Amino acid sequence: MMNREDYERILLFLFLYISTLILAVSIRYGIKRNEEEEEKRKAAADASTAATEEAATTTEAEEKIYRVVIDPGHGGNDTGAFFQTEEGRIHEKTVNFKIARFLKRELKQYDNIEVIMTRTEDVFLYPDERARFAIKKNADLFVSLHNNTLVGAGGYASGFSVVVPLGNYKKEIGKAAQRLGCNIALELSEVGLHNNGLLMRASSDYDYENGKPADYYALLRKLVKKDIPAVIIEHGFIDNEDDFYDFLCTKEQLQKLAEADARAIARYLQVSRTDTGEVLAPLSNYKVKICHIKRNGTAKRFRRTYYTSK
Ligand SMILES: [Zn+2]
Repeated sequence: MMNREDYERILLFLFLYISTLILAVSIRYGIKRNEEEEEKRKAAADASTAATEEAATTTEAEEKIYRVVIDPGHGGNDTGAFFQTEEGRIHEKTVNFKIARFLKRELKQYDNIEVIMTRTEDVFLYPDERARFAIKKNADLFVSLHNNTLVGAGGYASGFSVVVPLGNYKKEIGKAAQRLGCNIALELSEVGLHNNGLLMRASSDYDYENGKPADYYALLRKLVKKDIPAVIIEHGFIDNEDDFYDFLCTKEQLQKLAEADARAIARYLQVSRTDTGEVLAPLSNYKVKICHIKRNGTAKRFRRTYYTSK
């Protein structure tokens, strides 16, 4: 027979057993819930990371950063052309470098452009080195800055011309450079320089892989092959007194040329000015003078209309 004490012990035992059971179940349930919540949190975090990554890719696709390589012509022992003043010679390499520095500063006023210079000091560089530099930097555009001298194959002795690829090879790259050339022609003519338009010159020795005459200038030839639109701007004739004193003599004049170059590049790339958000209207129906020097040295002159700027 069980007495009262026995009953109480059994009850106590049962109570303790059931309590332990309830405690164990609730702990397990709690852990499981925590695990589930943790999983949910992780899934949400993953989704949000994916969304951020996706957004980043979209932004990247929408906001391409254009790498513009500016190449101040000549340097070091290669002084280029010159203007003789009473005090001495003004060398083309110095004028080119000043325009380049202003151009770099100007281009920084626009969104989505990264500017890289082939030289930041007075050093000599071979055309090959300049081209290799641009290729290594994955340039989107290559703009070489020069000033002219003597009556050259183009037959003119004052004003600007933009040397562009013939378009005999990698036609689209050639066309892109020609359209950039049109933008530069428009802007430089507004500064007041005489407009000689675009100059295309064929090499007398080299052919492209497709058998067509290659571009005369090694820089253009090498960059076209690597899909980089490249132009050489001959801003003015440094040995022409009028060009020199009207456009190439003072800091303010050189800055004006650089501003024109920058506007042309920004208009071509359709990037906005950071302070105003303004995007210049793209060039269309632009009729430009072209001087095409063939491989036998004869020059053919004509006008061509470019319908879009890009
Ligand atoms: Zn030069």
